[in-house]
Amino acid sequence: MYTRLLPGGHSGPAARGIAKVPIDIEVADPVMARLVMKFGGTSVANVDRIRNVARHVKREADAGHDVAVVVSAMSGKTNELVGWCREAAPLHDAREYDAVVASGEQVTAGLLAIVLQEMGIQARSWMGWQVPILTDGAHGVARITGIDGSGIIRHFEERKEVAVVAGFQGMHEPTRRISTLGRGGSDTSAVALTAAIGADRCDIYTDVDGVYTTDPRIVPHARRLDRVSFEEMLELASLGAKVLQVRSVELAMTQKVRTFVRSSFDDPLDPKPGTLICDEEDILENNVITGIAYSKDEAQITLRRVADKPGVAAAIFVPMAEANINVDMIIQVVSDDTTTTDITFTVGSADFERAKAILESSRDKIGFATLEGATDVVKVSAIGIGMRSHAGVAARAFQALAEKGINIRAITTSEIKFSVLIDSAYTELAVRTLHSLYGLDKPQ
Ligand code: ADP
Ligand code: ASP
Ligand code: MG
Repeated sequence: MYTRLLPGGHSGPAARGIAKVPIDIEVADPVMARLVMKFGGTSVANVDRIRNVARHVKREADAGHDVAVVVSAMSGKTNELVGWCREAAPLHDAREYDAVVASGEQVTAGLLAIVLQEMGIQARSWMGWQVPILTDGAHGVARITGIDGSGIIRHFEERKEVAVVAGFQGMHEPTRRISTLGRGGSDTSAVALTAAIGADRCDIYTDVDGVYTTDPRIVPHARRLDRVSFEEMLELASLGAKVLQVRSVELAMTQKVRTFVRSSFDDPLDPKPGTLICDEEDILENNVITGIAYSKDEAQITLRRVADKPGVAAAIFVPMAEANINVDMIIQVVSDDTTTTDITFTVGSADFERAKAILESSRDKIGFATLEGATDVVKVSAIGIGMRSHAGVAARAFQALAEKGINIRAITTSEIKFSVLIDSAYTELAVRTLHSLYGLDKPQ
């Protein structure tokens, strides 16, 4: 039986009647729960770490739970595989890219099954196509369309066997080719699998012990959050916090999957609960700003002296949309001569060269004097549902950044976040400044 995950299918824990509250790490039935545990690259970086992962799995299996584990490739492995594809041919067939990069997860799934068996635990590896996890045909950035969890469930029931599932990969059914879900995609595999097998909880084990007010690698006094709302986590993830892949948060929200972010480096016999991603109503105390994120994958393009007349914006942005290039921040400034205008906007850094080429090719139609581009920029964002009910939140940031001498190149705001584009040299200073400004620093 397939659990449809696109568009907006509904199954998972809610369908099994698991109570939404109270929200703590306890499961509805402490003896016979079904769990999905996901371990990221650093957590499976070598055989010793895989042994440590197996101890976490053993704890849950010994407690009597059905366990499906989702694993990433060993840290650095996917980068290496991507590098080899580029070395083989800078422009390569996306289906073959998937065949190559999916292999990292195959290795760790097999190794974890071996280590679990060695510890006396029944375990079997599952590749995406064996589950199967079905995806659309967008190779390299595929979306899961459905999962048939019945094989894994049968093995739980008949053999009490732990399922070790290779994350990041699936199969495009019409062509039966291996597909991958985009970087960081094992998080999405885990949340989708939780919905498909009707598990009670999805634990994302990583190298930090939860979601923090900002990247703890940049701000050592960032604070761990006990809970964070789906909406805020979605913004944090899309604005650069790579602790969860954006699509995994979307799925957790729509499929009502109880998702925790936890540390694989905790004592396997006494782990801490980590951070729960939950509904807004389940968060008791609210700050105006919950977190700060940054993204270096940005590029800025400025077109100088564009004719100030109707149709110019369309001439610039329609070709971008047609080329599937996402345009984010846009600002337009009237030039001194008042008959022309300067237009600045940002695109993802991966699209920068393509965007410039498209603009140059329609130079006559748009009619601009010069095109300037910059990739040494960063987008720093502040996110909080409290922004809905408080005025002047962003203005305080502009003031604080000005006092540090940081020039703002562009700004965007929406209901629960604002972003500023600045020189990348100031990333840490800007993140730290905003983190203190909004009272997020851990008490020293
Ligand atoms: P994994 O390999 O387990 O999937 P990732 O490297 O993808 O782990 O994600 C974990 C990393 O995300 C952390 O090491 C941390 O540096 C980074 N990170 C960025 N923003 C945050 C945040 N707000 N909270 C926690 N971690 C964050
Ligand atoms: N191994 C893949 C990556 O590095 C998927 C993942 O780790 O989530 O992007
Ligand atoms: Mg990750």
